Amino acid sequence: MMWVRSTFRPFQQLRPSVSLFRSYSSSAAAVQAERTIKDGPRNDWSRQEIKDIYDSPLLDLLFHGAQVHRYAHNFREVQQCTLLSIKTGGCSEDCSYCPQSSRYNTGVKAQRLMTKEAVIEAAKKAKEAGSTRFCMGAAWRDTVGRKTNFNQILEYVKEIRDMGMEVCCTLGMLEKQQAVELKKAGLTAYNHNLDTSREYYPNIITTRSYDERLETLEHVREAGINVCSGGIIGLGEAEEDRIGLLHTLATLPSHPESVPINALVSVKGTPLQDQKPVEIWEMIRMIATARIVMPKAMVRLSAGRVRFSMPEQTLCFLSGANSIFTGEKLLTTPNNDFDADQIMFKMLGLIPKPPSFAEEQVIEAENYREAASGSA
Ligand code: SF4
Repeated sequence: MMWVRSTFRPFQQLRPSVSLFRSYSSSAAAVQAERTIKDGPRNDWSRQEIKDIYDSPLLDLLFHGAQVHRYAHNFREVQQCTLLSIKTGGCSEDCSYCPQSSRYNTGVKAQRLMTKEAVIEAAKKAKEAGSTRFCMGAAWRDTVGRKTNFNQILEYVKEIRDMGMEVCCTLGMLEKQQAVELKKAGLTAYNHNLDTSREYYPNIITTRSYDERLETLEHVREAGINVCSGGIIGLGEAEEDRIGLLHTLATLPSHPESVPINALVSVKGTPLQDQKPVEIWEMIRMIATARIVMPKAMVRLSAGRVRFSMPEQTLCFLSGANSIFTGEKLLTTPNNDFDADQIMFKMLGLIPKPPSFAEEQVIEAENYREAASGSA
C-alpha cells in the first residue's frame, strides 16, 4: 500500500478506542474517516460513498476531516506557494471563468513571456517572504509549437529549483515528451485542474475535452512529476458535480499530490460574471470531503480565499486544508495581504511547510520499479 511512504500511521496502533467516536456519530464521514485512517488511501471510491461523506452533517464532516488531517499530516504545517503569471492574457481557450481568455472583454492585456531576470527576481522575493513553492502560470492552450518559450521556461525551472524551492508550472496541455523535459529540468509539480465534473464540464469549456485534461495528468504522472489537480466551485454547478469532480480525482490510479479547491472569483466581462459568491460552508464541505477521500494530498485553499475572513479560513484549515497561495495576486485576481497572512499564521499557530524533495525521490523510485516490473 502506497501510504507506507508517508507519515500516515495506522489508526489502531495509535488510538484503539476509535469506536468511541462511533457511539456518538455514525455519519458516512465518521465511518469513512475511520476506514481511511485504518486502511490508508484507496482509489476504489464509489460516487455514492463520496456523496454520502459530502452530505454528512457539516460539523461531523468538519470534525472527521480534521481527524484524518491530523493522522496524515502535521496539522500545524501549511504549504505556502506563490503563483506568478509569467505569460498573461490572450489565451485562445474559452474557459468561462477566466479573464485571460481572448474571447472575453475583461481588460486583461495580452503580454509576452516574462524575462528570466524578472521571473527569478519574483522567485527570490517569494522565497524571502517564506514561500517554499514557486508556481509559474502561462495563459496558453498548450505548449506545442512554442519551442523557444518552452526552452526558456525549462531554464527558469532549473534556476528556481537550484534556489532550493519546489517548482510548479501550469502551462496548459502537455505532451509526453515535454513532461519528461520538465522533469529533467527539476520540476516538482504540474498543475492542470479538471475544474468540475465530466458532466458539467461542457458548460464551462468547449475548446478542449475532459479526456484531454486527463491525458495531460497522465503524461505528468508518467514523467514522475507530482500532479496538482483540483477544481473550482461556484461555476453554477450542482452539488452532484462537486461530488463528481472529487470522485474523478479520488479514483485516479494515484491521488494528486496537491488538490486545489478554488471558489470562483467572478470577473466582469466573463460569462460567469454574475455568479453568486461561494459560501464558506460550501468550501468546508469540499475541503473536508477531499481530505477524507484523498488523505495524503495537500488540499489547497486557493482562489477565493481573499473573500474569507480569518475565522472562516480557520475552519478551512481545521477541516483539512494545508496549503495556500501567498503573494499579491493569483494570476490576474487579487490575493490575501501578506501581513494579514503572517498575523493569521501566528494567531493559529501555523508554521510554513518546508520544501519536500524527499517525496519526489520516493516517487521516482516507485516509478522506476513499476517501469522495471512492466518491462520484465
Ligand atoms: S484558464 Fe487557462 S486555458 Fe483557460 S482561458 Fe484561462 S489561461 Fe486559457
